[in-house]
Amino acid sequence: MKVWVLGSGSRGNATVIDNGSTRVLVDAGFSSRELKRRFASAGIAPESIEAVIVTHEHNDHVCGAARSAQRWKWTVHATAGTVGGAPELVAADVRTFDSGATLTFGTMSVQTVPISHDATEPVAVVATDIVSGARAAVALDLGRLTTQLRDAIREVDILVLESNHDEAMLARGPYPPSVQRRIAGVTGHLSNREAAVIARVCAHSGLQHLVLAHLSEQCNTPDHALASVSAALARSRFRGRVTAAQQDAVHGAFVAGRRSRAQQLALAL
Ligand SMILES: [Zn+2]
Ligand SMILES: [Zn+2]
Repeated sequence: MKVWVLGSGSRGNATVIDNGSTRVLVDAGFSSRELKRRFASAGIAPESIEAVIVTHEHNDHVCGAARSAQRWKWTVHATAGTVGGAPELVAADVRTFDSGATLTFGTMSVQTVPISHDATEPVAVVATDIVSGARAAVALDLGRLTTQLRDAIREVDILVLESNHDEAMLARGPYPPSVQRRIAGVTGHLSNREAAVIARVCAHSGLQHLVLAHLSEQCNTPDHALASVSAALARSRFRGRVTAAQQDAVHGAFVAGRRSRAQQLALAL
C-alpha cells in the first residue's frame, strides 16, 4: 500500500492511495492544472487514478474534483450532502454513497466514516488492500475523535491525520474570536494537542507512517506539530515515522508492507 499527500492545508488537499493495482484519490482540493503539476512531481499519471472520493464540500477538498474527473475519466464518489453543497459535481460521473458505507474499487475496499465537522455530511476514509490486508486512513477536518472513527483508524498501517493548529498560536493569531471558536470547536479542526492524543490511541506497533496534515499556515508550524505528537508517542509501541505534510509540497510515497497472516487474523477477531 502506498500513499502520497499531494499537498495539505486550508488552500487545498489531495491524497493518493495505491494498493499496487488500484489508485484512488481522496479529495481534489486543487485546480486541475495544479493537480496535474503535483501528480507529475509524484510520478503519477492522472489517467491512472480510478476514482476520487470527496470527503466534504469545502473548497479546499472539492474545487478541482469535477473538472479533473471529466478530464481524466475518474468516477466521483461523495455523500448526497457533499454533492448538495458542491453542485458542480453533478457535471462529472458522480456516484453518491451513504455516510458509513464501504466502497470497492478493484482489490481495494474503502470504508467511509462519519466525522464531526461543520460540513453537511463529511467523512474520513479507511482503505484496505483486500489481498494483503494493508490499510491506510485519511482523517482530516474533524473537531473531535468519535468512537466510530477511533475504532476505524486505530489499526491502520499509514495514517494521515489532521494536526491543524497550536492552541496558543490560535489564541494570539489573526482570527477574530468567532473564527477561533469555530476552529477550536467540536465541529472544527483538531489541534496539535488533540492530534497527539489520537496518535497515542493509534500508535500500535504496526503503524508505519503517521502523516500530520492540514496544518494551519497562520496558527501552526511543522515543528510545533511534530514536537507535540512526538512527545505523545515517546514510550509507546510506535516504531514508524512521523512526517508533517505542508501546503506547497508533495510528500510520499509512504509505503506499508504486507501484513503477516497472524496480524490479519488478529484484526479479523
Ligand atoms: Zn479542509
Ligand atoms: Zn472542511
